[in-house]
Amino acid sequence: MTGNELIGCHDCGLLQRLPDVPASGVATCTRCGSALYRRKPHGVERALALTAAGLILFVIANSFPFLVLEMKGQMTQITLYGAAGAILDQGMPSIAVLVFATSVLAPFLLLILLLAVLAPLRTGAVPPFVPFLARLLPRLTPWVMTEVFALSILVALVKLTNMADVLLGISLYAIFGLMFVLSATLSNLDLHDIWERISPVSPAREPSPSDARPILCHTCGLLNAPNGETADGRCRRCRDDLHPRKPNSLQRTWALVIAAMVCYLPANMMPIMISGYGGWYRSDTIMEGVIYMLLYDSWVLAVIIFVASVLVPLTKILILLYLLISVRMRSRWRPQDRTRLYRVTEIIGKWSMVDIYVVAIMAVLVNLGNFGFVRAGLGAIFFGAVVVFTMIAAMSFDPRLIWDAAERNHGATA
Ligand SMILES: [Zn+2]
Ligand SMILES: [Zn+2]
Repeated sequence: MTGNELIGCHDCGLLQRLPDVPASGVATCTRCGSALYRRKPHGVERALALTAAGLILFVIANSFPFLVLEMKGQMTQITLYGAAGAILDQGMPSIAVLVFATSVLAPFLLLILLLAVLAPLRTGAVPPFVPFLARLLPRLTPWVMTEVFALSILVALVKLTNMADVLLGISLYAIFGLMFVLSATLSNLDLHDIWERISPVSPAREPSPSDARPILCHTCGLLNAPNGETADGRCRRCRDDLHPRKPNSLQRTWALVIAAMVCYLPANMMPIMISGYGGWYRSDTIMEGVIYMLLYDSWVLAVIIFVASVLVPLTKILILLYLLISVRMRSRWRPQDRTRLYRVTEIIGKWSMVDIYVVAIMAVLVNLGNFGFVRAGLGAIFFGAVVVFTMIAAMSFDPRLIWDAAERNHGATA
């Protein structure tokens, strides 16, 4: 991508000319401050090499146990895919699917997608399936939660060392390696670059800001002229559906936020974890679990779980409610700060999964017949629903709606 190209902002919709971006530099939106374009020299080549490393680490992570527990002469061990299996055995298929999809399936699919998109781009010959696969990349990325799973292993490790001998397995290092490799791969990629290499845009066909409202493709970032070329309602480059704004954004976000609020109460009032050791057993809600950790495990764990399980979902619901109401009231108050708040909801959501992963890991390892057990409580199902509903709600919300009210005071928007 070269300088002086017309580009639309994903977050506020403003059309602007791209300045010359130095190597490893970032161009930010002149209105809302979002990153418009990151220039990553050799980004595709680096991301491809990292993807290959990620696949090797993924295989190691799934081939060996990451923790081994020894208690009263009995040994149990856990593999990456084993965490979901234990929850399934306890009759909670929805939580098992959520754990498996986010900790095993999504990272695997992301690595395969990256390989299938980047390898042809590296050689220069782009087969027809590549645009379809590239469209899936930004949709899949939010569901890859390897870093959250890695944090959950540390939390479970501290809890378990208080009750038994725990050995670290080889796959633990592979999971942490995979976490860093995935994050480095994504930070070396700019979607604009990928799409430019799939299909460069001829400047002659580029719409100008004075045209009647070009439509910004939310998938590949291309500006489509609203006349002729987009008659079939699809982007002329990536063939994804083209909408000036995400369709029914407000209605869908409202419905999902209300669903999350309905599930939030039982998620906090019903037990999330039921455990028994040596003849006694206890069931803990999220808050009871936090207090137990504060008294018997470590205040660091208590803070992690309190932030991830109580503060993050509540903050996310409140921010989304505030954004929905402010858009409904066509507020012109500090749209830049409201756009920032929206970005916060996108980033923090996945960290709520920590508690669910911890319960899953404990359920596999503390499974010693009559001597001790851990299983997920009904609260976990509602809590998982809160995480999923708030994540999809944040994806459904279109931050450009924040700017629509203030639009007349500024330039053209797409
Ligand atoms: Zn912007
Ligand atoms: Zn497109």
